[in-house]
Amino acid sequence: MSQGLRLGESVMERLATLARYSETPDNLTRRYLTAAHKQAASQVTSWMEAAGMSAGLDAVGNVVGRYESEPPGAPALLLGSHIDTVVDAGPYDGNLGVIAAIACVGDLAARGRRLPFAIEVLAFGDEEGSRFPATLTGSSAIAGRFDPACLDSRDEAGVSLGEALQAFGGDPAAAPSVGRAPGAVHAYVELHIEQGPVLESKGLPVGVVTAINGANRFAIRLAGMAGHAGTVPMALRRDALAGAAEMMVAVEEIGGGGDGLVATVGRIEALPGSVNVVPGEARFTLDVRAPEDAVRRRAASDILARFHDIAERRGLDLTVEETHDAAAAACAPWIMRQLDAAVAKQGIRPLRLPSGAGHDAMAFSGFCPMGMLFQRCTGGISHNPAESITVEDTDIAVRVLLDFIENFEPDA
Ligand SMILES: [Zn+2]
Repeated sequence: MSQGLRLGESVMERLATLARYSETPDNLTRRYLTAAHKQAASQVTSWMEAAGMSAGLDAVGNVVGRYESEPPGAPALLLGSHIDTVVDAGPYDGNLGVIAAIACVGDLAARGRRLPFAIEVLAFGDEEGSRFPATLTGSSAIAGRFDPACLDSRDEAGVSLGEALQAFGGDPAAAPSVGRAPGAVHAYVELHIEQGPVLESKGLPVGVVTAINGANRFAIRLAGMAGHAGTVPMALRRDALAGAAEMMVAVEEIGGGGDGLVATVGRIEALPGSVNVVPGEARFTLDVRAPEDAVRRRAASDILARFHDIAERRGLDLTVEETHDAAAAACAPWIMRQLDAAVAKQGIRPLRLPSGAGHDAMAFSGFCPMGMLFQRCTGGISHNPAESITVEDTDIAVRVLLDFIENFEPDA
């Protein structure tokens, strides 16, 4: 084992160990409050204890480890990510940020180094929302935003989140009380795989996140007139699917306008859906994201205006339902600067990039300053067993995080 990659190698080893805790034997599926989640949580707890932290489960099933300040009782720098996964996941999404943070604390403890602030490492139980129709349950609770309504949400087997939490060893009644007092926290900082191809394309192992993109989602319904594919002349058709196709081209065009904007039609359905029938109805989804809310809102309204024009010209009835509207979560400039400095100290050009995917860090936006460090992943692939990172990049990411922690100056 090369001494030079000591931190990266130990983190990669633990990630491989953690990936064995799965609901299924042949792939990695570890959803919130399952037996596999419980096993992973107890493994993480013992690693936290071995790294010199006091650790345990909180009322919503987060693993919380605290490395005390010197003198004790000071506000904490929160670090972490999630240990739940999607179905048939890769081993690094979420887990990397937890294991890397534990490794940093372990390194400090081994050197007997205490800091003037406490460090809390958080292993959130529900970021992916892959079991219940709820997401960011653990991180929202820490940020004092636990929504008791989520306890009634049910998984596919009909088990409620509240029942599952009870069986897991959590405490639904105490869930609102895991929220931190704002004065007890300096900031939340998360290391995560990029889940996109930007760092790879720039040849960089890590990058500093500027913001988690805000997102709008819409359900679009177009109604035209179904008819016989052989007898209705082209000029007399009100083909809902052809209208949807023209709208998709508009989405691609407006979505390509720059400023980090992306727009996607991810699902489309034609009814009645028969080879010999002109589609009388089309339903599709629209997802619009950007690092800046103003850019996103303008793009969404431009796209919808274009939809109205297209529908009118084609004699189609357009129904638009907004299903999701999340504001962008900006990373704190002072955290970005301190992360940049830690990246530069590893001899790496600091690159800033927005996050197109949602993360636990979003839950802290508006509660405490937050920041994120991205690590390159092969091909930008995630939510897939083919997810891949290198030991060299991991070693760099852990050293950047460690340097950031050791030089952390609250709100500087
Ligand atoms: Zn994740």
